[in-house]
Amino acid sequence: MASNYKYVILGGGNASGYAAAEFVKRGGGKGELAIITREPHVAYERPTLSKAYLFPEGAPRLPGFHTCVGGGGSKQEPEWYKEHGIDYKLKTEIKSADVSKKTLTSTSGETFSYEKLIIATGARAVDLATDFKTPGADLKGIYSFRDVEDADSILAAISDVKSRGGKVVVVGGGYIGMEVGSNLSKHGLDVTLVWPEKHLMERLFTPEVATFYEEYYKNKGIKLHPEALATSFEGKDGKVTHAVLKDGTKIEAQMVISGAGARPNVELFEGQIDLLKDKPGGVKVDGKMQTSNPDVYAIGDIAAYPLKRYGITTRQEHVANARQTGALAISAILAPGETQDFDYLPFFYSRVFDLGWQLYGSNAPDDETVFFGSKADKKFGTFYVRDGKVVGAFMEGGDNDENAALSKIAKAQPKAPSDLASLGVGLASKL
Ligand code: FAD
Ligand code: NDP
Repeated sequence: MASNYKYVILGGGNASGYAAAEFVKRGGGKGELAIITREPHVAYERPTLSKAYLFPEGAPRLPGFHTCVGGGGSKQEPEWYKEHGIDYKLKTEIKSADVSKKTLTSTSGETFSYEKLIIATGARAVDLATDFKTPGADLKGIYSFRDVEDADSILAAISDVKSRGGKVVVVGGGYIGMEVGSNLSKHGLDVTLVWPEKHLMERLFTPEVATFYEEYYKNKGIKLHPEALATSFEGKDGKVTHAVLKDGTKIEAQMVISGAGARPNVELFEGQIDLLKDKPGGVKVDGKMQTSNPDVYAIGDIAAYPLKRYGITTRQEHVANARQTGALAISAILAPGETQDFDYLPFFYSRVFDLGWQLYGSNAPDDETVFFGSKADKKFGTFYVRDGKVVGAFMEGGDNDENAALSKIAKAQPKAPSDLASLGVGLASKL
């Protein structure tokens, strides 16, 4: 079977939901756009999955968090797409792409042709069995975390895990490790975090900041194993029983969550458009999300684009980036004259227990860092200073005004004053 569309978005995740909203806003024609995805749901706000979705009580469920509710837009349920003449092909996995013939072919043999393609295939969770070849990683009870089905499988297993000991090992001290680990402990599970660096979120937190969260987790009963690699898993009757660390330590576990990073889904396009082999990886695009093929665009987690304000190429696996690149690519296609090159201010956030932080701008290992605020009051932060200028601003416990101040400071990149530590976000009022 063959279907022809003017526009096809491959991948129905966060970026595509915002691209569809922009398509409708820009007056895109009915019947012109198809979104093809292997997930069984139309686009939803993926960040919810590792946060409120896992709460023991009052957890949201679809359709409650379809895009674009997280970005302040309307909730686009399946009917919304129908109403606007957008064909949403769910449970449809594309197994090959031919950019020269402008076709995509699904695993069931269906062919889709397009005039313009937007690749929005996102990233996939690192699989300990296939990506790292960790012995025992194919045992039952070991989960990756990326979509609704992963979250549902984990939630469904909790009572059985509890009945067999209730011990969970979370591999990774990054976003998934911290968010999923904190929420599983709220279910009364005995959670241990295992990760290779000295501190949690080491690429983002300073040691001073990380120790605050580490103490917080320990006080909540979560056990921490920094500077540790999970090198194998042991099991009985096909089910995981232990995680084994590089130094030989064995940690009992009836459930293991892998939060060991993500990989961009670019393989379909290898040899057809320019991909970046080295860091940051992904599909190379320009400031309008256009790839090396003028009829192909890339958005979201896979797009590697020029980050104007810091003069580097970046790829961001974060939702604000997905939302904005999705909208920008549609705008570049439908209204090229009105579309400026992307000028992104990086934005990161997380929420765990009753805590929540935001970071605007840039942070790099060689930056000078300036601490402000009070850990005792759960209101503190870090400024990242490069070449004498404040290039990034992080804060735990900021209210709306303080978070807006972080953004203002990171955008302005002011010269760092000598009283930066005592000024804190008060610096924004001087700009
Ligand atoms: P995705 O949302 O991953 O969508 C890609 C889609 O493409 C998926 O539906 C996938 O199934 C489909 N697909 C891929 N290949 C194919 C194929 N061959 N055929 C058909 N379909 C295909 N960011 C933040 O900033 N803050 C957060 O708090 C936050 N929390 C997160 C929590 C979790 C659990 C995860 C996994 C990510 C989180 N992120 C967060 C990151 C954010 O969700 C991503 O940056 C965002 O989802 C990227 O959007 P995307 O559309 O590029 O990719
Ligand atoms: P991260 O890259 O944040 O963290 C991965 C962690 O796993 C790192 O600490 C990594 O160490 C560690 N690790 C890797 N291999 C092992 C191992 N064998 N044993 C122990 N630890 C190991 O990725 P996540 O998995 O947390 O997140 C996946 C994706 O989801 C990312 O795109 C992320 O941006 C996104 N996400 C974002 C959220 C947010 O923005 N709030 C929330 C949840 C997910 P090392 O760095 O040394 O490799």
